[in-house]
Amino acid sequence: TFDTLMIGGGPAGAAAAVYAARKGIRTGVAAERFGGQVLDTMGIENLISVPHTEGPKLAAALEEHVKEYEVDIMNLQRAVKLVPGQPGEEHEVQFESGASLRSRTLVLATGARWREMGVPGEAEYRNKGVAYCPHCDGPLFKGKRVAVIGGGNSGVEAAIDLAGIVGHVTLIEFMDEMRADAVLQKKLRSLPNVEIILGARTTEVNGDGTRVNGLTFEERASGEIRQVELEGVFVQIGLVPNTEWLQDSPIELSERGEIVVDAHGMTSVPGIFAAGDVTTVPYKQIVIAMGEGSKAALGAFDYLIRQ
Ligand code: FAD
Repeated sequence: TFDTLMIGGGPAGAAAAVYAARKGIRTGVAAERFGGQVLDTMGIENLISVPHTEGPKLAAALEEHVKEYEVDIMNLQRAVKLVPGQPGEEHEVQFESGASLRSRTLVLATGARWREMGVPGEAEYRNKGVAYCPHCDGPLFKGKRVAVIGGGNSGVEAAIDLAGIVGHVTLIEFMDEMRADAVLQKKLRSLPNVEIILGARTTEVNGDGTRVNGLTFEERASGEIRQVELEGVFVQIGLVPNTEWLQDSPIELSERGEIVVDAHGMTSVPGIFAAGDVTTVPYKQIVIAMGEGSKAALGAFDYLIRQ
């Protein structure tokens, strides 16, 4: 059994493991895929003090750093059920493999995943023009033409953000109106280099075999198929927290399924903490996940010394 066990081995889980292990408590990390979303990322240029790195390199560095300490890393373990203990008792996590682990405190750091359009070309051109994170990849499209798919708050925020960097933005929304807050829509409409296309279903991301060069969509009202030439497509149709395994647990989730945490990273269940993209903490970024993971581990340690 552990004093603290991280579920998830992305930036949040790795940071939590380092902070916990440095307190000399029995620490474990169980993750489906150690490294997390970072493994799917190419260039990373906003991890402060590291001007440029690449996803697989950062994932290896996370693991190396955790391994400097006495931490049990259990990779390829998918959590399927959480059984919280009574106050002061151990919590149990059950895995798909049939294994189960017990710990006095937990840090839930199972991250999130971008919702994909599921159209031809999207997967093929991922990181070759298809992007999901404007904060991360916006600068790569300086002066170029991009589309933003999705007219919710994240899509409209992305379009406003990108309009200041890229040459031209086409925002494509499936419904006949955008769902974003009115003030964001007003701001977007005031920008000279933005075109808004409503009632349009994206049907394909086009490319030349190596990079994106356009987008095909259907005007839903007329059924007419149209194409735009561009170099980038930002998909902004939602970020889904990996909390399906917590649905039947007493952990409080927000409307969007994110784990609700307090200022110390504690969830609604005493002794169970959470950090990173899986929580309600806004702005899903590596440096933020690392900070939140560190905070949750310190929160767990504080909790333990009060028991
Ligand atoms: P994750 O990285 O999602 O890690 C979650 C961990 O939990 C993984 O180990 C996963 O396998 C595990 N897990 C999930 N479900 C279970 C389960 N049921 N049981 C056990 N383990 C589970 N951010 C930046 O700051 N800069 C960038 O340039 C950047 N580029 C990005 C590019 C792409 C393509 C993507 C997808 C994201 C990018 N991000 C970037 C965002 C960044 O990767 C995330 O904010 C960050 O990885 C979140 O860390 P996390 O530890 O909270 O979650």
